[in-house]
Amino acid sequence: MSSNGSPLSSSAPSSSADDPLFEKWRKNLSWITGLGLSEEEKQIRQKERQERIEPLLLKKCNKVKDSLMTTSPSIVFMLRHLRLSGCLVEPEHIQCVPCGNTTAGGFSPELGGILVCSQGFSNRKHMENTIVHELLHMYDHCKFKVDWGNLRHHACSEVCVRRRAILSVAQNPNCPDRQAAETAVNEVWESCFNDTRPFDEMK
Ligand SMILES: [Zn+2]
Repeated sequence: MSSNGSPLSSSAPSSSADDPLFEKWRKNLSWITGLGLSEEEKQIRQKERQERIEPLLLKKCNKVKDSLMTTSPSIVFMLRHLRLSGCLVEPEHIQCVPCGNTTAGGFSPELGGILVCSQGFSNRKHMENTIVHELLHMYDHCKFKVDWGNLRHHACSEVCVRRRAILSVAQNPNCPDRQAAETAVNEVWESCFNDTRPFDEMK
């Protein structure tokens, strides 16, 4: 098997190389599976894939984000409250960017916007949760003038589970209004928060 040059260069003579069709087929197969490629060829293949896949993921990310901004009840709710607090969030304030697959997103107080990592999503719900999480940071920043260099301020903004819970309960068809959701969550908070089962049994 040829180990030098790009996959497009002709390979060293071998019995199969006499058959151009067979050789073409072998290269195509190697290109698909990644098997039998030289290190250099592997790098070219990787780069080619990234260049092809990245724009597709970015396009998909923007499409899902735009749709979530108008259809997700929790995102629409957050956008409304941000607007009421004087912070209008337009689609361009939430940007899809190719930032690797280890992070899902982030809020940048300097840029006043949210970054959504186009490779970092397993599904639509995951992206929805990420955007809601980052919008809560944006809300804190807008409403409470958070000092992000202050660890206590930052920590306080991260502890958004109680607010997430209120948001979710408010969407229950049996819930008359937000106040009722808040009351229900606050009533059970202590007992549920301190009850970490089954996790404490896994030690
Ligand atoms: Zn956070």
